Amino acid sequence: PETKLPKVGTTIFTVMSQLALEHGAVNLGQGFPDFDVPARLVEALDRAMREGRNQYSPMTGVPPLRLAISNKTERCYGYRPDPDAEVTVTSGASEAILDAVHAVVRPGDEVIVLDPCYDCYEPAIDLAGGVAVHVALDPETFAPDWAAIRAAVTPRTRMIMTNSPHNPSGAMWTADDMRQLIALLDGTGIYLLSDEVYEHIIFDGRRHESALRYPELRERAFVVSSFGKTYHCTGWKVGYCIAPPALSAEFRKVHQYNTFCTFTPAQFAFAEMIEAEPEHYEQLGAFYEAKRDRFREQLLTTKLRPLPVPGGYFQLVDYSAISDLPDAEFCRWLAIEKGVVAIPLSPFYGVPPAGQRLARLCFAKNEATLDAAIARLQAL
Ligand code: PMP
Ligand code: GLN
Repeated sequence: PETKLPKVGTTIFTVMSQLALEHGAVNLGQGFPDFDVPARLVEALDRAMREGRNQYSPMTGVPPLRLAISNKTERCYGYRPDPDAEVTVTSGASEAILDAVHAVVRPGDEVIVLDPCYDCYEPAIDLAGGVAVHVALDPETFAPDWAAIRAAVTPRTRMIMTNSPHNPSGAMWTADDMRQLIALLDGTGIYLLSDEVYEHIIFDGRRHESALRYPELRERAFVVSSFGKTYHCTGWKVGYCIAPPALSAEFRKVHQYNTFCTFTPAQFAFAEMIEAEPEHYEQLGAFYEAKRDRFREQLLTTKLRPLPVPGGYFQLVDYSAISDLPDAEFCRWLAIEKGVVAIPLSPFYGVPPAGQRLARLCFAKNEATLDAAIARLQAL
């Protein structure tokens, strides 16, 4: 039969986590923390379920959570989205991305994606009948190449998807990048999908350049985030989308027939957690910065060369001093023969750059997990 996603197989994250299980490898592949979620969040979830908050929530999300998201957004970025008209709770950022794309992308529309990019972007575009237009980020710094992005814009361009802090590199957009983006979009009808799931995992005193800080961007933006990253609970699958009222209305048309609503008890738990312990998200950068610093020190005792990590919880390493294998083969070998699972970068590209020898390691792990991985990596 004619399939809708002919290029898609099983995601690299699933493939590599399966290899980790089969070979007893230390799993620094798929991005998820191996430590506990905050105690208050678990207690609040338990309480919500016991108090009978177990039925469908309102389609847009429970009011206290939309209010908490609005309050937190104002605290962080100086813009207060209307909790009723501009905030929609979703089943993870993945659902929000799919909904946003389906809300505006029509058959034949072009969507600019910046490679390497997270693997769910292109299938979402394909399912909507759109065309992903791949533009490479700088191969060293993963900064946007504005000349190349400008050259990719056509009358058919409907959306551009951005992601800062960036998966897989950790690169963060600067205020200058935001000015370039504003200039690029000015006078066009191009929508912005700003994937900000790592918004609180930021290092060395940097500022997260949320699209919500900029009126010229937020008037055309779907800003997506995920509580999975902020609260160490990637399996709970709760996220949200902030967009202007007219865009939120279109977004909600898709959301209501995709999932209708998101796991109700967790929505109450997040509402309580956000309001009661703002220090959790305020201190998340420092928490992960300590992990990053320790892990990088350890990596310097191996033949892997760590690249800079401005934000996020992934460390890219150049393995060319160890092997000349292409990245997928290298990561298979590393998992099966050496007992450490990493993620190759090539699945993050439309066309992977030839000769790139990079792999991604997740450091959202307990010290014992990272130590075990390092011991194996030192033997390479
Ligand atoms: N965007 C990026 C950049 C991500 O890294 C992830 C999670 N790996 C997602 C979106 C999806 O988030 P969620 O698990 O909340 O669907
Ligand atoms: N976002 C996670 C990562 O980049 C993977 C999530 C998934 O497995 N779908 O590792």
